[in-house]
Amino acid sequence: MVISHTCKNLLIRCMDFRLNSEVERWTKDSGLFEGGFDVVSVAGACKNLVDGDEKIKDNFLSNIAVSIELHEVCKIVILHHSDCGAYAQSYNFSSPEEEKIKQVEDMKKAKEIILEKYPNVEIILVFGQMKDSNGKEVELEMI
Ligand SMILES: [Zn+2]
Repeated sequence: MVISHTCKNLLIRCMDFRLNSEVERWTKDSGLFEGGFDVVSVAGACKNLVDGDEKIKDNFLSNIAVSIELHEVCKIVILHHSDCGAYAQSYNFSSPEEEKIKQVEDMKKAKEIILEKYPNVEIILVFGQMKDSNGKEVELEMI
């Protein structure tokens, strides 16, 4: 007998622990995650999907594939955030604004990459502005 386990949403987020408490609150309060959600948590969120080599991209997409094909997920929420260590390793931003512009650009590219493979999935982009360096308050803004 095959027991099906399904959920409606996939959250792709940065692994940064400073986001944990605010993201946990947000996944309950925002209404974006009704019907449950899978989580793909990696450094830089979708950064590697955009600038990684083919192997890394394939691995990234295989996680998304499990979510969509096995769990029947129909909405993906991509969460990036300011002061991201993964971006700081690759770029030398001169301002928080410059970092945000680059990350928003990457989020949009990631959305295109996912839609190319899964045109029917809804994709929501969210940028978390850290209000303090510890993540006590993170302002989550839809892009
Ligand atoms: Zn990060």
